[in-house]
Amino acid sequence: MRQLLGNKEIALHYGELPLGCKLCREGAKLVVFVTGQCSDSCYYCPVSEERFGKDRQFANEKEATSLEDYVMEAYRMNALGAGITGGDPLLSLNRTILLIEKLKEEFGSGFHVHLYTSGRYATRDALLELKRAGLDEIRFHPTREEFLDAVERAVTVGLEVGLEVPALPGDGEKIVKLAKWAEEKGVKFININELELNERNSGPLNSRGLRISHGLAGASGSYETALFILQKLRDSKLNVHYCSSVYKDVVETRTRFIRIGRKDRKPYEEVNGEGLLVKLFIRTTDENSSLEELGEKTEEGYYVSQKFLEDIRKELGTRAEIWLIEEMPDAKRLKVSERKV
Ligand code: SF4
Repeated sequence: MRQLLGNKEIALHYGELPLGCKLCREGAKLVVFVTGQCSDSCYYCPVSEERFGKDRQFANEKEATSLEDYVMEAYRMNALGAGITGGDPLLSLNRTILLIEKLKEEFGSGFHVHLYTSGRYATRDALLELKRAGLDEIRFHPTREEFLDAVERAVTVGLEVGLEVPALPGDGEKIVKLAKWAEEKGVKFININELELNERNSGPLNSRGLRISHGLAGASGSYETALFILQKLRDSKLNVHYCSSVYKDVVETRTRFIRIGRKDRKPYEEVNGEGLLVKLFIRTTDENSSLEELGEKTEEGYYVSQKFLEDIRKELGTRAEIWLIEEMPDAKRLKVSERKV
């Protein structure tokens, strides 16, 4: 019997984690949203209103309009790989292939690229093209039974294949059966995600009696379903990974923010434990202060490192208003908090 590894509130797994997951855990994967278009309409779909069904592209949180936008964002975070998602990336197959080729050309063949799809459009030709372009790993969320053929085709063309499914309450037995089938077909792993409630899917989930009841956004019964699946697959040879909603926030996003912040911060910014950039903003009427030497002058005031707080207070006293600012390290530098200090 295999030993279950990890932390039951965050993430659990049997066997080795897929390389794509290891890199996500380090925050080293560029998140590529290649199109919001999808021919499915899963009631639990987590894709936001501003993205779902729209042919919009994002490199991490930044809207992308060209392949270069993805490359720049990958440099900004010192990415070691990319995870291509949507929508269904195979609905924009040409764009997806060009992007994989571009990333491999720019960062080398070791730059690890994985992709998520329902399998609806995963014809043999499409899979061969993806493999030729350099795709390292493909993950299927087979929304219909007939899409399982695509999973078998992907194994046959020699791709590293996994399944990625939400732990829908009531679907435990079905997912166990799917995992056993996958093991026989040469699939390498199954990732089971805790079902998450968000602004877009909370209506349909609430109407099915599902509420947030685990961690930050986990739907009632999803965690228990995942535990049931893990228990049933303890003797399977398939690598099994359970990923909670907390894991996505506390581990994946946070480590990615820390990584971006360390690479892209300005000299007067510090990266805190949540991956946010921290600095002081100072407004003063004193034209002769030393603030410009310490940081950066803007039309509204000065940005300075928080380590100078006491020195600035001594120098300027009541002639300065000082705020402590926290920003996300995304391309827009979204302000998360500001307070007067
Ligand atoms: S297949 Fe994925 S992107 Fe498409 S509707 Fe279902 S969950 Fe959303």
